[in-house]
Amino acid sequence: MAGRNGKTSFYDEAMETFHRAADLIKMDPRVRMELEEPDFEHIFYVTVETRDRLVPLSPDEQAKFRDLPASDVKAADAFEPLANGNYVLHRRALLKADITMRSGVMNIPGKGFFRIEKGGPKKFKAYRIQHNQVRGPYKGGIRYHKDVSLDLFKTLAADMTWKTAIAEIPFGGAKGGIKIDPFNYSKEEIEHLTLRFIYKMKGLIGPYIDIPAPDVNTNGEIMAMMMRQFTDGEREHHRLRGVVTGKDVRIGGSEGRVRATGQGVVYCIEEWAREHKFDLKGARVIVQGFGNVGSNAAEILAAMGAKIVAVNDAFGTIHADAGLDVHALAQHVHQNPKNLKKTVAGFTGGTAISKDDFWGVEADICIPAALGEEIDGPVAERLKVRLVAEAANGPTTREGDRVLAARKIEVIPDIICNAGGVTVSYYEWLQNQRLEHWSEAEVNARLEQAIKKNYAIIRDISLNRPQRTPLYDSRPYCVGQQVDVRTAAMVLALKRIEAHYLLEGFSQ
Ligand code: NAD
Repeated sequence: MAGRNGKTSFYDEAMETFHRAADLIKMDPRVRMELEEPDFEHIFYVTVETRDRLVPLSPDEQAKFRDLPASDVKAADAFEPLANGNYVLHRRALLKADITMRSGVMNIPGKGFFRIEKGGPKKFKAYRIQHNQVRGPYKGGIRYHKDVSLDLFKTLAADMTWKTAIAEIPFGGAKGGIKIDPFNYSKEEIEHLTLRFIYKMKGLIGPYIDIPAPDVNTNGEIMAMMMRQFTDGEREHHRLRGVVTGKDVRIGGSEGRVRATGQGVVYCIEEWAREHKFDLKGARVIVQGFGNVGSNAAEILAAMGAKIVAVNDAFGTIHADAGLDVHALAQHVHQNPKNLKKTVAGFTGGTAISKDDFWGVEADICIPAALGEEIDGPVAERLKVRLVAEAANGPTTREGDRVLAARKIEVIPDIICNAGGVTVSYYEWLQNQRLEHWSEAEVNARLEQAIKKNYAIIRDISLNRPQRTPLYDSRPYCVGQQVDVRTAAMVLALKRIEAHYLLEGFSQ
């Protein structure tokens, strides 16, 4: 097995659920072979020309330049602040400027002393893993993050194969992105990198081949750049809008897509609450990650009367026992141009606590909506909740799973819990192909039915409760015994995928 500091790879660990479910349904060995490894693993490099930077001097270094006269720069936007404390130096800084420099150091009033660091070409590793396409074009998000790897993208691509099958949409699974810390680069550099990335992938993607979407640190703006690059110079470019989803509604995106993943998480939680006769009004919720998924799930739950009592992200944690004002928190994180890290840290409507204490906050529901592998054994021991709703992909480790099960904390697995995003991506794609525009009410009505129906089938498989209702039929999926809910979700995915191979046959 591939090693990660001597540990099992993410992929091998994630595939344990696949093999367990495949054994349970006595999957045809040929189908197992088709699904065991991705169809394609594309790894390539993209280069971008980076601009010069101003890097702050340490207090010791500053002492040597105390007598350096301040520089006067007229172009107010010539210095672009980055989240790591550096500034990108745009050439317009020199326009009508009065600059004094010594040993490459500048004194900028109100900002401090900086050394100029030369820009130049930089190379980044990029990935697109196409796991399986038996049910339709490859589909999956694009992540820009410093901690990505082939192992991680393989895992996330396979997750998409299972997720699109569970959501019953005609897509396969893929995932990709760039190994970069985007917080250290300017908007313009990220744009150039994105354009190069799509240029290199032009032959690999398309509305009927592979359809990227937003994931961690990518969003509608980046999808717009990708669409522009892919359709540039094409005669019938309007026919290619479906090459990416998660676009702005004004350029072919779907109403409801931005909130869709968070909305899907809430539909699952509503179903869980209905089954457990649990009132979500007044329910206490902790949320990890306050990006697209976490903030939307939190806002929707808060509007339903739940109390979001603590939120943790990459740079801080905020707590309010009586419940945070989620709308104000979202403004602080997403609408404040000075909040370069887009973090909850610094929010005045709550108290800062440690990440460790976050996991121990007394609540009913925990929503991990950040990165993978966050709920490990020790975190699972600390949690004081009844339910973990996995909004993130792969947030619970194998050990975490064991502890949660032993402590009878229930889980809504990621492949159904966060399937709302890809489901509305499919609606977006359909609208693009048909040149239609649906209302948000229509999108949400379809999404609610799709998520609740498939979640109900998964619960039936888990409880071995085969039944036919006016909405769905779980009889073909139950396996004659009770299984944990993660395995049940995989059973549903594999039975739907296997049907394609069994009915269509194999290509060779
Ligand atoms: P995002 O970039 O908008 O937000 C990520 C959030 O996670 C940020 O608040 C960030 O500060 C936080 N975070 C990062 N590292 C952290 C750490 N070490 N500890 C605590 N918090 C940390 O990303 P997103 O689109 O909201 O995606 C979040 C998760 O949901 C990911 O696992 C993603 O794969 C999954 N997901 C996203 C979508 C989608 O439509 N965007 C769909 C399905 C699943």
